[in-house]
Amino acid sequence: MKRGVSPGTFDPVTSGHLDIIERASAILDELVVGVAHSPDKGGGPLFSIDERVGFIERATAHLSNVTVRPFDNLLVNFAREVGATVIIKGLRAVTDFEREFQMAQLNYRLDRDIETMFIMAIPEYMYLSSSAVKEIARHGGSVRGLVPDEVHEAMQERLKRSR
Ligand code: ADP
Repeated sequence: MKRGVSPGTFDPVTSGHLDIIERASAILDELVVGVAHSPDKGGGPLFSIDERVGFIERATAHLSNVTVRPFDNLLVNFAREVGATVIIKGLRAVTDFEREFQMAQLNYRLDRDIETMFIMAIPEYMYLSSSAVKEIARHGGSVRGLVPDEVHEAMQERLKRSR
């Protein structure tokens, strides 16, 4: 039984994240999507932890071996807690590489029984990030197709209120 954990802030989940989750779930027996609280990232998240978990749960409802859980401890400890032996990360352009390489090294140092593996982003999603999606939506642009429809609507609503 190979169980993996796919961590992130997912504020909000994008089609790029979902592509990685789907591809990882096809390789592993079970995949736990770990949603980091990350209260400090970029002035606090747009969506609450429950909202972020809910969006991913509904967007992955068709994947029977995927579960979604919030976490706010060290990633290797969370992985151990859920019985995962592999950390799955998505890699976009080279800009991700340095940071991901550093995190993978540190996590390996913390727990040698947990391996980090990378799945390359597909070209359409190479430049897609949660922060880009928020930036576009904040300026009134459409993010339809870049996030699940439910997220698109929630963003319109949330940003309308804060404008
Ligand atoms: P972001 O960088 O968009 O704020 P997270 O911190 O939630 O996202 O990232 C979680 C994981 O998803 C990271 O491994 C990140 O590299 C990966 N990821 C994010 N966007 C994409 C994408 N468009 N394609 C592939 N992987 C992605």
